[in-house]
Amino acid sequence: MEILLGKDAEKMLRSLPVARSEYVKDSSHMVKLAKKFGFPIVLKLVSQKAVHKTEAKGVRIAGNEAELRRHYMELGKIAKRLKGKIMAQEFVKGRELIIGLKKDPVFGHAIMFGIGGTMVELLHDISFRICPITASDAQSMINDLKYKKMLMNFRGEKNVNMKAIINILVKTSKLPLRNKKITELDINPLIANDKAAKIVDARISLG
Ligand code: ADP
Ligand code: MG
Repeated sequence: MEILLGKDAEKMLRSLPVARSEYVKDSSHMVKLAKKFGFPIVLKLVSQKAVHKTEAKGVRIAGNEAELRRHYMELGKIAKRLKGKIMAQEFVKGRELIIGLKKDPVFGHAIMFGIGGTMVELLHDISFRICPITASDAQSMINDLKYKKMLMNFRGEKNVNMKAIINILVKTSKLPLRNKKITELDINPLIANDKAAKIVDARISLG
């Protein structure tokens, strides 16, 4: 079994909106990337030895250049120890959702959609369908969610862009048609706001 992370996972998700990102070559390249993506900017460890980056202190959000340099230095040490790379990524503001794919020996691939972020374990609010799905299936997956309200006007924030989410669900459900080796896909999170939705973290298992 092979696990794709970072840019390798992004390549397989070409048809989907993924947050802009680049591997950082050195500190002057990093400063250039901060100009390109703007602040805040996210630095991430990409390593097969740290599939859960947060646990390895491998996700850093920098609000300015001084913070960015400090995080880059600290991440550099962790990356060296874990034989990893550092990826810079644009910061995406919004609500966190999860999308998954899983290959079942009987039913083929199934798609999962739910509320993500720190609430995911607590709420356990998810919906499943067999792949591939249509736009109306995607809409009904959204309607299935108990906490659908979290996608609507919420704490002064506007509705998230439902069309964007529906589009991403439909496209994700069709990925296994082209990539038969996908046994599992874990998009956690997809970050959605009123304008768009972007994938900021994806992990793909190939069988
Ligand atoms: P992991 O799941 O491996 O710990 P993630 O890339 O999912 O790492 O990052 C952990 C958390 O950091 C995310 O759930 C999200 O809350 C936040 N985060 C990560 N990347 C971004 C980003 N580009 N923009 C905004 N928040 C982010
Ligand atoms: Mg994640």
